[in-house]
Amino acid sequence: MQKPIRIVLTGAPGCGKGTQARILRDKFNLCHLSTGEMLRAEAQKDTPLGRNLKAALDRGEFATDDMIIEMVSSRIEEQDCANGFILDGFPRTLPQAEALEKILQEKNIALNAVIEIQVPDEIIMERILGRYTCANCGEGYHDKNLKPKVYGVCDKCGGTEFVRRTDDNRQTVKNRLINYRKLTYPTIPYFEQLGLLYTVDGTGSIEGTSKKIIEILGLN
Ligand code: AMP
Repeated sequence: MQKPIRIVLTGAPGCGKGTQARILRDKFNLCHLSTGEMLRAEAQKDTPLGRNLKAALDRGEFATDDMIIEMVSSRIEEQDCANGFILDGFPRTLPQAEALEKILQEKNIALNAVIEIQVPDEIIMERILGRYTCANCGEGYHDKNLKPKVYGVCDKCGGTEFVRRTDDNRQTVKNRLINYRKLTYPTIPYFEQLGLLYTVDGTGSIEGTSKKIIEILGLN
């Protein structure tokens, strides 16, 4: 059995963290922990928390550190994470990064790597505004760069309904990019100091980026 692999994928919104996380999950049987997906599930609920969260996400604002840290801390305890996990979208602030270190130390486990996927802002806007997913299986597509093989039919599950995220609009993306620079970027030097940081260029093909990540992890 392979040794557990525990990684963080970081980078600006739209850099390809989710796409790469799903590829690694399927290839190495890892648990994919996307805090964005967890929050979107919570935001769909017709509860005071759900409604507040939906409003915050639609403005491109972050959820509170305490809530996110609690969510991740209990999630990585679950059995499906025993073989390793990919953190996608967490940690997104310096307090979250420090909390992660503490949580892992308490559990006596360590990260293999933090991988930053770098993509310039102009490309990010174009990628996010064109992306959509299959409503049934979550497979990702893009208006220009990644269309289903048969128009209107998901390649993976045959589904015919597709959805776009409500926070994938120009104004919200601008706010998300501002928040990335202000709140998430400080985690990069933090992980660099811990000797965990690797950077990959995310402007090439999806397969090319996966290949680079797999090489970094020494899994090729
Ligand atoms: P994502 O799917 O990673 O793009 O996340 C979508 C949105 O969820 C972000 O724009 C944030 O508003 C929120 N979010 C996701 N992860 C976190 C986190 N670790 N801390 C705070 N807010 C988060």
